[in-house]
Amino acid sequence: MELITEYITGISNQFFDPKKRVFLIYILLSILIAFFWFVFYKKKSLLSSFKKIFDKKVFFSTSSKSDYKVFLINQMIMMLISPFLITQLAIATTLYFYFHTINWLSVGMYSNTLPIVFISLFTIFQFTLDDFSKFIIHRFMHKWPILWSIHKVHHSATTLTPMTVFRTHPLEGIIFSIRSSVTQAVSISVFFFLFGNSVDLFTILGVNIFVFLFNIFGSNLRHSHIGIRYWQWLEHILISPAQHQLHHSIAREHHDKNFGSALACWDWMFGSLHHSIEFENLQIGIKKNQIENSHSLSSLYVGPLIEINNFIIKKFLKTKSKFIELFSKTGLVNDNKIN
Ligand SMILES: [Zn+2]
Ligand SMILES: [Zn+2]
Repeated sequence: MELITEYITGISNQFFDPKKRVFLIYILLSILIAFFWFVFYKKKSLLSSFKKIFDKKVFFSTSSKSDYKVFLINQMIMMLISPFLITQLAIATTLYFYFHTINWLSVGMYSNTLPIVFISLFTIFQFTLDDFSKFIIHRFMHKWPILWSIHKVHHSATTLTPMTVFRTHPLEGIIFSIRSSVTQAVSISVFFFLFGNSVDLFTILGVNIFVFLFNIFGSNLRHSHIGIRYWQWLEHILISPAQHQLHHSIAREHHDKNFGSALACWDWMFGSLHHSIEFENLQIGIKKNQIENSHSLSSLYVGPLIEINNFIIKKFLKTKSKFIELFSKTGLVNDNKIN
């Protein structure tokens, strides 16, 4: 009974907690931005804008229905495993004591800094580090085959809705949860150590002001069919919804582009920036040969595990045959002994 209550609370929190991406106010503001985009930029009527935004073909597609199911299942899985994940408090405490062992550092060495300065620094540092770590891990998820087999669950979506953000394999959920704990712990321990007794953020509704701004300015439109574009100069700094939609494009020329979460400058620095393009119907998803029956729950949950298993076996066999080759060349041992 307690588990069921916890599960239902966890789900409703996603929509009523300002720290969560799909907090209802953020969703409503995204809808408002979409209306502005269609009415003032695309010169469409209110009715046709409404039909475009709430397109039944998108929200009730087989892909979107899988997103909703994955959301409900992942909530359960994460609720059960989160007590076993390492907490940011444990990492922060370890780091804090580690800093004491570094000779050129001393506790509270900048404790005389004006509060407005260190609170500003902490707010910027936490947001930037968090965003950069998302970029780096996302990039690895595309570059390393073993991580791609997990991340392609997200890319197997063929329509995008704000709920697609939850379409991830639980292993990706675990990786990102550890990432979040580590980055939070690093920023807290560094600032706590250097600036003294308290660390504080500039927040709105308890959320880092930059995260809040990112969310009220339509972060949910990134996973949508509404290709809102920014000016070219701004797309060097902030990822526009259309840029993330390109990241989901099936076209070869869009592969491995726009890994950024909120900031586009990382893609710009690492050479993976792609400006948005004007499109009517962008084809979203991955090639058919990448995943079988991409919307069935078994291929979304079990498929990646089978691939990882095959990948490890393949690597093991490759290493084994290399050793056999090496040993037989040196004449130290014959093939039979190794087998
Ligand atoms: Zn990706
Ligand atoms: Zn995405």
